[in-house]
Amino acid sequence: MPMDKYAVIGNPIAHSKSPFIHAAFAEQTGQSLSYTAELVEIGKVPEFIEQFRANGGRGLNVTVPFKLDAWQIAEQLSERAQRAGAVNTLSLNDKGIAGDTTDGVGLVNDLSHNHQLDLQNRNILILGAGGAVRGILEPLLNLSPAQLVIANRTVEKATQLADDFSDLGHITGCGFDDLAGEKFDLIINGTSASLSGELPPLPDNILQSSAACYDMMYGANDTVFMQWARQQGAKKVLDGLGMLVEQAAESFFIWRGVRPQTQSVIKLLRQQL
Ligand code: NDP
Repeated sequence: MPMDKYAVIGNPIAHSKSPFIHAAFAEQTGQSLSYTAELVEIGKVPEFIEQFRANGGRGLNVTVPFKLDAWQIAEQLSERAQRAGAVNTLSLNDKGIAGDTTDGVGLVNDLSHNHQLDLQNRNILILGAGGAVRGILEPLLNLSPAQLVIANRTVEKATQLADDFSDLGHITGCGFDDLAGEKFDLIINGTSASLSGELPPLPDNILQSSAACYDMMYGANDTVFMQWARQQGAKKVLDGLGMLVEQAAESFFIWRGVRPQTQSVIKLLRQQL
C-alpha cells in the first residue's frame, strides 16, 4: 500500500524542520506516512494543492508567506482558524479542503505543559501585531489572564487587533512608549525583529520579579530579546523551539488522530541547532 503523503509548503522552505519533526512523530507512533518540504512559487498555491491532492496527498502544513492563501483556499475552517485569519494545517480528504491553525495551541502547550507556566490572572505583554500574534491571542485569552497588552511599532495595528479580540477577555493595544511604569509576568516577543538582530524599544523595569520572557523565534544562541530578558532579571528565558514542535504535534493529531510525545523531539532538535 502507498504511504499517506504529507508536506510543508513555503517560500523559502529549505530551512524547515517540519520533515524531521513529523518523521520522528511517525516513527514514535508507528504511523506509516511520508512528509516532505515543498518550495511553492508565489501565486501558485492553489495549483500546487490541487496537484498534491490529485497525487494522493492527505495534508499540508503551510508556512510563510502562504498562511493567508491557505485560509482563503480552505473550504471549511475551524473556529480558531476563522478568527486567526490564517491557516497552517490543511486536511485534504473526500469532503474537501479543511483548514485549521495550530500555532496558538502550540505556544500555549509549550508555555503550560513544557514550562509549567500558569497564566491565570497574570499580566501578559505581547510584542508585535503581525500574523503570528493574531494566531496566539484566542488560546492565550482562553487561559484567563488578568490582562493582555499588545505593543507594536505601528500602534494602530495593535489597537485594531485588541478590538478584534475584545469579546474574549481584557485586551488592549498600545505603542512601546506606553509601557513605561507597567509590570508584566510574561512577555512574548512575536515581532520579527529578532530575525535581523534587533530589539523592540522596551523600557527597563517592566518585569515582575518572577517574570518569564518568551521569544517565538529560536536558534543556536540567545536572540537579542532573550539577552535583554536575562539582563532584566527574568526568571525564565525561553525560545520558540517548543512552540514549533507543539504546533506540529497538533497538526499530526488532526491528521492521524494520535498525539505524539514532544519532549524527546524538542531535545533532539535542540541538539541539532
Ligand atoms: P509579520 O511580518 O506578520 O509581523 C511582524 C511583526 O514584527 C509586526 O508587528 C512588525 O511591526 C514587527 N517588527 C518587525 N521588525 C521590527 C522591529 N525592528 N522592531 C519592532 N517591531 C518589529 O510576521 P509574523 O507575525 O508572521 O512572524 C513574527 C515572528 O514569529 C517571526 O520571528 C517568526 O519566525 C515567529 N514565528 C514562530 C513560530 C514558531 O513555531 N516558533 C510560528 C510562527 C511565527 P509593524 O507592524 O510595525 O511592521
